[in-house]
Amino acid sequence: MQTASTEVVRHINRRIVLNLIRTRQPLSRAELARISGMQRSTISLIVEDLIAGEWVLEGGQSHLPRGRRPTSLRLNEDRVIIGVDVRPIHTTLALGDVNGHFISREVFDTPREPSAAVAELVRRIRVMQAACHGKKIQGVGISLPGRVNPATNRLVFSPNLAWQDADLAGPIAAATGLEVELDNAANACALAEAWFSRGEVCRNLVVVTVSEGIGTGILIDGELPRGLNGMAGEFGHVPVDPAGPLCGCGSHGCWEVFASNRAALRYYGESAAPLLFTDLLRLAEEGDARAGAALEEMGRHLGQGMRLIVAGLAPERIVIIGDLTRSWSRIGPMIEEGVRAQVLRGGRAPELVPAHEDGLARLRGTVVLVLQKHFGASGHTL
Ligand SMILES: [Zn+2]
Repeated sequence: MQTASTEVVRHINRRIVLNLIRTRQPLSRAELARISGMQRSTISLIVEDLIAGEWVLEGGQSHLPRGRRPTSLRLNEDRVIIGVDVRPIHTTLALGDVNGHFISREVFDTPREPSAAVAELVRRIRVMQAACHGKKIQGVGISLPGRVNPATNRLVFSPNLAWQDADLAGPIAAATGLEVELDNAANACALAEAWFSRGEVCRNLVVVTVSEGIGTGILIDGELPRGLNGMAGEFGHVPVDPAGPLCGCGSHGCWEVFASNRAALRYYGESAAPLLFTDLLRLAEEGDARAGAALEEMGRHLGQGMRLIVAGLAPERIVIIGDLTRSWSRIGPMIEEGVRAQVLRGGRAPELVPAHEDGLARLRGTVVLVLQKHFGASGHTL
C-alpha cells in the first residue's frame, strides 16, 4: 500500500493554505486554522514558509468590532508567471499572477517551425522580463496542442502543429534563465479547473478543448493519468468512421475530423474568402441557415464522441472549452444529448459545463503548470 510521504503531506497542506488564502483573502491565521481544521501551530509554520517564499504577504488589518485585530494574509500579486498558449494559427503570451489574473496579453502568428517559435518566444519573453520591474517571474508555463512526454519533456505528438519531437523547454530556459513547464493544453486546463475551483473540487473531471483539433484532459480520482510517453487521453484521434476524411495524425475519420472547428468549416462548404470559425459563429448568429446547420452538424458529432468519454471514464463533470461555447444555446443541447444517451444503468449523467472566456481558461492552465511545481501535482492535493 502506498503511503503519503511527509513531503507530500507538506505539499498538500501548503496548497490547501495557499488556496484558502487565494479564495478568501484577506484572512487571518486563526480563520485559516478554523476553516482548514489544521492545528494553529501547523498553520503558523506553513504561513511563515509562504511568507518567507514571498508567495503570501502579511499586512492590513481585519476589521473586528473590538478586541485584538489579527493581521490579515493575502497573496503576493508581484509573483508573476509568463503563460504561453500555443495554437496552430495563433500563439498568446501573457503575464499572469498567482490569482489567475492577467496583467498583459499579446497574440502573434505561430511560426511554422519549432526553432523559429523558440526564437520568437525567447525574444518576446525577454521584452516581458525587462518590462516587469519589481515583479518576480516564477517561470514560464506553455500549453500545447499536442502531447508532451513527461520523461523527456519533449513535444512528441502534435498533428495540428506538425512539430516533430521538439524540445521547446530546454532552449527557452537556457536563453531566459527561467524555469519552463509545458503540457498538453487540455491537461493544463484540467489542472486549472482543480486549482482555481472555488467550490468543492471535482475529482473525476474531463476537459474537452475544441478548436482546430479536439483535446481531452482527464482527472480520475484526482489524478492526471499520463500513460506511456504521456499519450493518454487522445480521444480526438479515435476513428469514429474509418471511411471518413484523412486526419492530421495519418488515420481516417478520427473524432476531431468530424467535430472540430475545422470540421464545422468543412460542413459549411466552399466560400469565396477563407472563413474563420468565429466568422461561422457570427454568420449563424445573424441567421445564416447554412452556418447554423454546419454548427449543428459539429454539435451532433461532438455528442457522438462524448459517448466514448462517458462510457470509458464515467466523469462527474465535463467542461467544454472553445469558441463554440459562444453558441452554446445551439450546440450545447446536441452535446448534452450524446452525453445522456450513454449513461448506463447504475450510472449518472455528468454535469456538462461550457467554460466561457475560452482564452482565459487556457491561459489559467499555463499559470497552473508553473504553480503546481511549487505546490505539488494536482492529484496529491485534491
Ligand atoms: Zn487523428
